[in-house]
Amino acid sequence: MKIICIGRNYLEHAKEMGKSITKDPIFFLKPDSSLIAKNQPFFMPDFSENIHYEVELVYKIKKVGKSIDTAFSKDYYDKVGLGIDFTARDLQAKCKTNGNPWEIAKSFDQSALVSKHFFDVNSIKDLNFSLLKNGETVQKGNANEMVFNIDQIISFVSKFITLKIGDLIFTGTPSGVGSVKIGDKLEGFINDTRVFSLNIK
Ligand code: MG
Repeated sequence: MKIICIGRNYLEHAKEMGKSITKDPIFFLKPDSSLIAKNQPFFMPDFSENIHYEVELVYKIKKVGKSIDTAFSKDYYDKVGLGIDFTARDLQAKCKTNGNPWEIAKSFDQSALVSKHFFDVNSIKDLNFSLLKNGETVQKGNANEMVFNIDQIISFVSKFITLKIGDLIFTGTPSGVGSVKIGDKLEGFINDTRVFSLNIK
């Protein structure tokens, strides 16, 4: 499986990064080795001084597809969960400055947390989500605030890359991204349900 991540998909987050919204979605990949194993903490890596959390809705692909028309995107997913796109912000800034690809900042081991629990998309009308750091809300969003919704994302990405069963799509983060340090605890919520809890070690 592969993990496809969308960048700059919430206006307020684009602004906090000093960027504007693009005409088409921006996407990048994380390998399956980036997934944090179940019930494991996130261990601070030694190659970055500034690891950021980005909480994001995550959709699971249930059917192989290529060049999918937006009108048919709904046939390709039925589950939504929550994840964190961990980002080595200092390395990412260096990559951007040098015009280099940013895999070292986005695709390293443990850079993807995915909730154990996924909801049936049809069971949830209003998709609110939030991230708490040490008990305080640091990020919150709603699926309808996305610049490109999941149907548009699936259509765009599948023009270039075949989607396969089990692939995950991280749909971008709302504003409020920030750093973590050893001892922090991150908790993710979809509506009122806590879907993950992660310790930073
Ligand atoms: Mg992200």
